[in-house]
Amino acid sequence: MDAAVKSLSARTAEAGAGKPLRRPSREEAEAAVRTLILWAGDDPSREGLTDTPMRVAKAYEQLFKGYRETPEEILDRVFEEVEGYSDIVLVRDITFYSHCEHHMVPFIGKAHVAYYPTNGVVGLSKLARLVDAFARRLQTQETMTVQIAQAIDRVLTTRGVAVMLDAEHFCMSIRGVQKQGAKTLTTHFTGLFRDDPAEQVRFLTLVQSGKA
Ligand SMILES: [Zn+2]
Repeated sequence: MDAAVKSLSARTAEAGAGKPLRRPSREEAEAAVRTLILWAGDDPSREGLTDTPMRVAKAYEQLFKGYRETPEEILDRVFEEVEGYSDIVLVRDITFYSHCEHHMVPFIGKAHVAYYPTNGVVGLSKLARLVDAFARRLQTQETMTVQIAQAIDRVLTTRGVAVMLDAEHFCMSIRGVQKQGAKTLTTHFTGLFRDDPAEQVRFLTLVQSGKA
């Protein structure tokens, strides 16, 4: 098992056994938001901010819902009736919203996910849901790239998986060096894609095809 998948399953296992992470109550989460508002320099009791801690706690349930989703549940159904289709399946331009684990600031971009099926294919929307399951966590782009590829590799039988993420990191554009528009590209290849540079070129060509 590779390190990224191992750390993910170790985290899941930790939450279920050994030293479980205690999930704070809603009240505790809202109190923490009030503390951060004070830290930012504002008054959490002023009218415009009174309901903000409640809204932030609720928003977090959606922004970080990936912790409650697993690749096994998302990729549970394989369609085998595809007339022997076994060539590349690529879903590109999957928009994702994530948060960097260093500053808890958004990074936003597109995922391109491809695989060579062995025994049938998964529903195309499932690949987008899989990207979301990893995006909706505290992340680094590098880790997320590997996690998506390894999850497909682990749950489906494939001859190879290719994942490319292309994202803008708000921690670069609104804080730190403040460089707007800089894009970070990351790739991870397994199987055929890893072993054959021509397959990597094919993937990258398909990702770019039809674009200016
Ligand atoms: Zn950051």
